[in-house]
Amino acid sequence: MYNFVKYKMVCSTCFDTSERKVQFYYGNLRVWEYNVGDCLIWGDPQEGDRAQRHVVVSGVSTCPKCRQTSSFEIVVKDGRIESVNLSSGRYLFVGDDEYFIVLSSELPG
Ligand SMILES: [Zn+2]
Repeated sequence: MYNFVKYKMVCSTCFDTSERKVQFYYGNLRVWEYNVGDCLIWGDPQEGDRAQRHVVVSGVSTCPKCRQTSSFEIVVKDGRIESVNLSSGRYLFVGDDEYFIVLSSELPG
């Protein structure tokens, strides 16, 4: 399964303003609906690890009006959704199973 984070935006294709449900695969995967600022829920089945302190998660959503699909970068810091933005192209999610990029993890020990 997957989760959602709610994000209000203007579609770049049809200029419709809507609250998108941006789908992502990170944390406990049970179709949770988050807002920016929420802390992620953990536990199996899960993607990623709560020890990952700073992560960029790949997200996707479709415009409810024109069906245009957009990609997003969801920044998770210390287990909390810090921001949602349209893809900047700065992070490259390679392959079908790479849903997130770890920028910083807890040091072992
Ligand atoms: Zn649209």
